[in-house]
Amino acid sequence: MSDASRRDAQELPQTPHLRREYRTIESMFRIWCADFHGRQVDLEGLCRECEELLAYAGQRLAKCPYGEDKPTCAKCPVHCYKREPREQVRAVMHYAGPRMLWRHPWQAMLHILDKLRRVEHPMILRRRRGPPGK
Ligand code: SF4
Ligand SMILES: [Zn+2]
Repeated sequence: MSDASRRDAQELPQTPHLRREYRTIESMFRIWCADFHGRQVDLEGLCRECEELLAYAGQRLAKCPYGEDKPTCAKCPVHCYKREPREQVRAVMHYAGPRMLWRHPWQAMLHILDKLRRVEHPMILRRRRGPPGK
């Protein structure tokens, strides 16, 4: 394993829910990349642009403050993405989301269930819990 791929693997989410979510996003990127960038994704993998954006999404997932309780990013009160990648990922999801039902129905169903999750902003949670040690 090269240093770059070892680093990438370390930056990917490690827990079950987050790993599943990463695989779902990856499926969406494969749909997007095949349709917009002409990639035969099964043979060639994602194009460089999509690979970089997916890596960014994977890093955000791995660092998500909600961990295994993570809501979908669209329902998140934190929005940890920078503006540009957020818009790009939103475009990928907007396009690939409806197509997921046909191509990856199981991932699509679980993602729909994830949309029911509700979380509060971490600041509100901290305020409610009070200072540590109390
Ligand atoms: S946008 Fe919200 S839910 Fe998505 S990774 Fe960032 S903090 Fe987690
Ligand atoms: Zn692409």
